[in-house]
Amino acid sequence: MNKKSIYGMTYEQLQDFLMEHGEQKFRVRQVWDWLYKKRVSSFEDMKNVNKSCIALLEEHFVLHTLEEEIKQESKDGTIKFLFKLKDGNLIETVLMRFPYGLSVCVTTQVGCNIGCSFCASGLLKKNRDLDGGEITEQIMNVQKHLDERGDGERVSHIVVMGIGEPFDNYNNLLDFIHVVNHGDGLAIGARHITVSTSGLAHKIYDFADTELQVNLAISLHAPNNDLRTQIMKINRAFPIEKLMKSVDYYLSKMNRRITFEYIMLRDVNDHEREAKELAKLLKNKRHLSYVNLIPYNSVDESGYQRSRSEDIQAFHETLKRNGIQSGVRWENGADIDAACGQLRSKQIKKENVG
Ligand code: SAH
Ligand code: SF4
Repeated sequence: MNKKSIYGMTYEQLQDFLMEHGEQKFRVRQVWDWLYKKRVSSFEDMKNVNKSCIALLEEHFVLHTLEEEIKQESKDGTIKFLFKLKDGNLIETVLMRFPYGLSVCVTTQVGCNIGCSFCASGLLKKNRDLDGGEITEQIMNVQKHLDERGDGERVSHIVVMGIGEPFDNYNNLLDFIHVVNHGDGLAIGARHITVSTSGLAHKIYDFADTELQVNLAISLHAPNNDLRTQIMKINRAFPIEKLMKSVDYYLSKMNRRITFEYIMLRDVNDHEREAKELAKLLKNKRHLSYVNLIPYNSVDESGYQRSRSEDIQAFHETLKRNGIQSGVRWENGADIDAACGQLRSKQIKKENVG
């Protein structure tokens, strides 16, 4: 039998499972305590759990489906992990240090089918979705690495911005959020979790309906359909008008600020006219919008280059002058390929060559 990762089970699912197999209701709390608070590496280590329950867990679940392939630490403290999945696929996870805490960037799919022309993950195509266990295990592995270091550090923030389109793996994403957010799980506050989407509008409605207090980021990257379709072909299915309608729904329902990500591509989307157009597009929701300007991290195959820093600055100023809140995200881990999918795509190329 192909055993499942226990980290893929929500609290209620595990509770139902245990009770269906004759265990008492309170066991789930004990088991979760060992999994997420004490963070054991084997079922046997769950000291106060009865033998029959341990045998049941061992029969159906495993604690490890990810194997650490590479770990790279950068000068600024960013750590990039490359994990091998059970089926041999590679995924990456990044730990970043900020003044406000430790943030982990997780992967949700092996590759990505959205196919943005600037993105290393998109160039590799989707192989499959990760299950909830594989997503949660990324956080667990990073946390266990911190535990081993013995400094008492905790993962405090999560960004779902690694490889993959989270809204194309929606149910597993929700299970993952449930587990890390749950008080008996990792207890990471919803407001400390950010999900980034390329703009699958129908899922933005669904996400609003969950009423989860999780931060939403939307990869906009261009203020008009011609330009956006050129760099993100998903814009044909979800053009800006459709996307903005779903954004308006989210804002009216949640009254929470949305972040719009905007990658700065040299001479492509970084002129004053695009800054003005973007300001106009967001005008009626500017009190609940924040534009994150992201200097592009060059990907060999894409043909795009990072905007000049004076153009990034000028773009930022134009937005500000037009009443749009924005900031420039100067990246972490620049010396270890910390941008999406870059370590993985390099590793795959190496394996193909050698
Ligand atoms: N698929 C989702 C989430 C993963 S990508 C999405 O697209 O939103 C997370 C963010 O990283 C997106 O805003 C994406 O546009 C950006 N990104 C991808 N490749 C990049 C690169 N080479 N340099 C800078 N940002 C990049
Ligand atoms: Fe997929 Fe996001 Fe990369 Fe686009 S930017 S290809 S949606 S991972």
